[in-house]
Amino acid sequence: MGTFGATAVQASYFIAAALFILGLKRMSSPVTARSGIVWAGVGMVVATLITFLTPGMGNYALMTVAIAVGGIAAWVTGRRVAMTNMPQMIALYNGMGGGAAAAIAAVELFSGAVHGPAVLTLGVLGGIIGAVSFSGSLIAFGKLQGLIKRSFRFRGQNFLNLAILAVTTIVGAIIVVNRGADVQSEVIVLFVVVLLLGVTMTLPIGGADMPVVISLYNALTGLAVAFEGFVLNNAAMIIAGTVVGSAGTLLTQLMAKAMNRSLGNVLFSGFGETAVAGATGPSGTLKAIEAPDAAVMLGFSEKVIVVPGYGMAVAQAQHKVWELCQALIARGVTVKFAIHPVAGRMPGHMNVLLAEAGVPYDLIYDAEEINSEFETADVALIIGANDVVNPVARTDKSSPIYGMPILNADKAKNVIVIKRGQGAGFSGIENALFYLDHARMLYGDGQAKAAELVQAIKAL
Ligand code: NAP
Repeated sequence: MGTFGATAVQASYFIAAALFILGLKRMSSPVTARSGIVWAGVGMVVATLITFLTPGMGNYALMTVAIAVGGIAAWVTGRRVAMTNMPQMIALYNGMGGGAAAAIAAVELFSGAVHGPAVLTLGVLGGIIGAVSFSGSLIAFGKLQGLIKRSFRFRGQNFLNLAILAVTTIVGAIIVVNRGADVQSEVIVLFVVVLLLGVTMTLPIGGADMPVVISLYNALTGLAVAFEGFVLNNAAMIIAGTVVGSAGTLLTQLMAKAMNRSLGNVLFSGFGETAVAGATGPSGTLKAIEAPDAAVMLGFSEKVIVVPGYGMAVAQAQHKVWELCQALIARGVTVKFAIHPVAGRMPGHMNVLLAEAGVPYDLIYDAEEINSEFETADVALIIGANDVVNPVARTDKSSPIYGMPILNADKAKNVIVIKRGQGAGFSGIENALFYLDHARMLYGDGQAKAAELVQAIKAL
């Protein structure tokens, strides 16, 4: 194959990288997101296949088996996973990416491959970051999947993490200073220690913060892949890793901001585990309403703002909710959807569900676009949302969600809340909104209640 082969491989990597970037760009709007995933997927297929043609490549049988096993496992689990389990699925896939980057570093360092000091440093750094991301993501998966039920917090845990980090830095420096020669035992120590660091960093973090942590590990995986791209001299890895690293960083910041938390607070505070103790519940009573009465309130409104939350995803109620809105629109009611940036369990969760149900994008508004409109709404219809409409976030400094920007559903003339019972939100606290005089609780599963409302509105 010679030079031509090498050039063809590099050109294909460039094409793959371009497909990743264009795919990511398309993912920024729900209208083009699906095709964006396909574009990026094609990029990955190109990058994978072209690797077989790399001059000097061997082990084809092993590569084929690995691709077949990984591909089939991902295909089967991807098809089966419920939308509500998507965050842990992402954690798992993301962890695999970090693990792959770490494995590249481990093999290169262990084999004593000759690299210049800069590339060697990047290789070691990429290995460290990738391994932390790998073990940390697995712990995040375990927590979200309910396999690890509690957070392990103890005095001095931050000190322990700092101590492990110090050991990591020293061993990493020894490997670089020795230019990668005769450092097999140091390489083993390095990877054992950093894998442990991922575990000790993630175990104390509460389940409520896991999506932010997963996003952070996603960014780290990107960085690790980019660094290992320098080691392997692989342009596709460098570009794709950088893109993932920066996109993940932006997403992490966005999520932390939407929860009004600093990243340090997310990583070190134990949110949702300790802060609830001692918090006083809201005063007043919960007032139930039945579907026929709720249908009258909705059907004779001029403007209804729908606030979906995690419960809509659990109930898979998005199709019925849209049917309900169509019945209202047919009666001349103005209907808008208000989406909080952290409604549900992952960024864009509600947008994806509403898009799946066929809700037109021009009816869907972000929090800052619609918050001033609640005052003019006759009804705020809340479906399975809780924390994102809890007014204590504005007033109660002792609340774990204090400072989180919320949707102003309490400012609507009437509030109807569909939820199954008195279950708390993700943060584990009660919602003062539900106790307000103008709030009514329509108890039941989101999908069943939306269906009842459709019937009742059509019968008006
Ligand atoms: P939430 O606070 O988790 O509340 C969801 C509510 O849905 C529960 O109170 C539950 O009450 C109800 N529910 C559950 N199953 C239901 C069903 N089948 N039918 C009807 N209702 C049902 O939801 P949210 O308001 O969307 O808030 C999201 C939370 O997740 C926030 O605290 C946010 O910070 C956190 N979070 C989100 C992200 C993200 O990226 N989106 C990331 C990190 C953290 P019942 O049990 O009484 O039914």
